Amino acid sequence: MPSTVCFISFHELALKGRNRSVFERRLKDNLNACLRDTSFDVSRVKRIAGSLTVAIHDSSQAEECAHILARVPGVTAVAIAYKTNRDWNTICETALQALREAAPEQGSYTFKVDSRRSSTDFPKSSMDINREVGAHLLAAVIDDGAGVRMKNPDVLVSIKIVEGSTYISTRKIKGIGGLPSGSSGRTVSLLSSGIDSPVASYRMIKRGSVVLGLHFSGRPQTNDSSERLVLEIGEVLARTGGLARIYVIPFGDIQREVAATVEPSLRVIMYRRLMLVIAEKLACSQGAKALITGESLGQVASQTLDNIVATNEAVEMPVLRPLIGSDKDEIINEARHIGSFDLSIQDAEDCCTLFMPRSPETHARPKQVAASWNLLDVDDLVLRALESIEVHEFNPRFGVHKPLRVIEDGSV
Ligand code: ATP
Ligand code: MG
Repeated sequence: MPSTVCFISFHELALKGRNRSVFERRLKDNLNACLRDTSFDVSRVKRIAGSLTVAIHDSSQAEECAHILARVPGVTAVAIAYKTNRDWNTICETALQALREAAPEQGSYTFKVDSRRSSTDFPKSSMDINREVGAHLLAAVIDDGAGVRMKNPDVLVSIKIVEGSTYISTRKIKGIGGLPSGSSGRTVSLLSSGIDSPVASYRMIKRGSVVLGLHFSGRPQTNDSSERLVLEIGEVLARTGGLARIYVIPFGDIQREVAATVEPSLRVIMYRRLMLVIAEKLACSQGAKALITGESLGQVASQTLDNIVATNEAVEMPVLRPLIGSDKDEIINEARHIGSFDLSIQDAEDCCTLFMPRSPETHARPKQVAASWNLLDVDDLVLRALESIEVHEFNPRFGVHKPLRVIEDGSV
C-alpha cells in the first residue's frame, strides 16, 4: 500500500544562492508551526532532495492539509502524492491507481506522464519512465476512452524518483509564492476595515514580512464595529502565518480635538499624519522598520500626490504602499482571492467618517499643512493614543508585544 504525502515546492528560494539553506529552514519551521495549529494526523516536515514533504497518516485529510500548506508564504505548489519504493511493478500499479482516481467519472479524457529522477542510480532514464509507464497506463485505460496527449492533458501523472522512494501525483495545488514569513523583517500596517489595506498587508506578508496591524477605531465617538471587522480580517490574514498581532487605538476623542483645532479642509490630512506618527513610534518600540498603507494614487481625495506627500512628511520611517499603482478592480479581485472582500464590504462605523469636512483639501500646500500641524500638541496626542493601545495577539511565535516605555520628556 502506498502512503500519502504532501510534496511542497518553493521556486523562488532556490534562486537565493547562499541564503538558500536559511530560507529553507525558515520555511520548514513556518510549515511545522502551521501544522501544529491544526488537528491533522501528520508527520513533521522533512527535507528531501531540495523539496519538503509531510507524511499524511490519514489520507482523507490530504486535500484539506494541502490547501492549508499552500497558503504559507514561500510555497509555490503542493502536490498530493503517493509514496512507494522503487520497485518497477509497484510504480506502474501506483501510477495506474492515481490516474484512475483523477480520471473523470464519465466520458473520454487524456493524460500524460512526466517523470524526474534525482537518483541517478535508477536504471531507467526519465524518457524511458515516461514511455514505459505511459504504455502501461494506456493499455489499462484505453477501453475507458482515455488517450495520451502531450499538450494540455486532462490529467498529468507526475513521477519523482528521489532518495530511494518514488512520489506519484496527479493533484497539484498552486501555492501563494513569495518568501517565508520572517525573512524580510517586520512592518506595521495601518489596517482599516476597508478593501485596500488588508490587500496591502497580504502583499507584504507574501514578501516575507512579519506584519503588525494597527487599527484606529472611532471609539468612543463611534461603536466598535470597525474593530470587530478588522479582527475578523486578521483571522483571514493570520492563515498565512505572517500576521503577528493587531493593535487597536481608540481615536475618536483625538479626532474631535483635531477637528476643533484645525481648519476643516485639512482635518483628514491631520488625522492621517497623526496616524503615521503614532504608527512610527509603535514600530520603533516593536522592532519594525517600515510602515504600510493601502493607498493607491488618486483613488480618493486624500490620496492625491500632493496629499500623500503632505502626509508622508510627518514621519522619517519609510512608508511602503504596495497598492500605489493598482486599480480598484485589481485590488477587489485580490481581496476576493484572499478572502477579505466579504468582510471589507460590511458596514462599519469607521473613524474615517468622523468629523469629515464637506470639502476636504485635495492639493494640500506645505505651508498650510505646517501651520495647522503646529496648532496641535502632537506629543500629547500621540502619547495619549499610545497609552490607550489594545493588543490582540495572532501569532506569538514571532514574539509578543513589548510594553511601551514613556521617557521622562513625555515621548515614547
Ligand atoms: P482602505 O480600503 O484600506 O480603508 P481607502 O481606499 O478607504 O483604504 P483611506 O480611507 O483614504 O483609503 O485610507 C488610506 C489608508 O490609510 C488605508 O489604506 C489604511 O492603510 C490607512 N487607514 C485609513 N483608515 C484607517 C484606520 N481607521 N485605521 C488604520 N489605518 C487606516
Ligand atoms: Mg478606508
